[in-house]
Amino acid sequence: MISELRRIIADAKRIVFFGGAGTSTESGIPDFRSAGGLYRRSTGTFTAPEEVLSHRFFVHHAAEFFDFYRAHLLYPDARPNAAHLALARLEARGQLTAVITQNIDGLHQAAGSRNVLELHGSVHRNRCQLCGRRFGLEAITGSIGVPACECGGTIKPEVVLYEEALDANVLDAAVAHLAAADTLIVGGTSLVVYPAAGLVREFGGRELVLINKEPTGYDDLATLVLREPIGEALGAAVG
Ligand code: NAD
Repeated sequence: MISELRRIIADAKRIVFFGGAGTSTESGIPDFRSAGGLYRRSTGTFTAPEEVLSHRFFVHHAAEFFDFYRAHLLYPDARPNAAHLALARLEARGQLTAVITQNIDGLHQAAGSRNVLELHGSVHRNRCQLCGRRFGLEAITGSIGVPACECGGTIKPEVVLYEEALDANVLDAAVAHLAAADTLIVGGTSLVVYPAAGLVREFGGRELVLINKEPTGYDDLATLVLREPIGEALGAAVG
């Protein structure tokens, strides 16, 4: 199976990678929906994670939001794994045109990927809601309670919460890359979060590879399905 992936990658001229939380589990960041994922664990709160991570909850319960966010979504010490590094190598060789990710951890950029389309934003970008001043991750990790700007405004992570819209420019760029790709590698995503998951249908190329530990609703569309850890699979196939 890895040999088939190696062949597909060797023949590809315009690869796009579309990934999710499973791409970063081998870096020590839990995903949401696996057995060990955030949604299956006790998070010390009686409120469901989907609700805490919603726009409405942020507006009405900012202190609780930031407690949860710091405890469960920030992994400042995480490092890129073999999957991130293999994708960066493919881009450097001129074979991969874009990484489209639902992740917010910045690990693709840390691995050296340049064209990264972050559908759900990034924990590394934060902005004062009042004056618009921009901040890095330290504004959140280095503060307690609700992080505040000097102007008195609340600093909000530029992460797309439930009930919030995706950036139209990022979506348009993702669609354009998918339409022009000959090979799509989808990995580490349950493909249940919309509209992001629906992007897979924009791909019109030859080879659709799915690398995910569990089955997804898109397995039938794939030319190759691998149930392997994505870091091991891509690390072995890209070389
Ligand atoms: P998800 O948790 O719904 O699904 C993850 C999928 O990856 C599962 O099907 C699981 O079987 C698979 N998986 C886990 N580890 C794997 C591995 N090593 N190799 C191959 N497959 C593996 O995640 P999702 O589909 O990305 O959607 C959930 C949302 O979670 C996204 O919107 C994203 O913003 C957010 N999220 C991001 C991070 C992050 O930035 N690292 C972490 C958790 C959640």
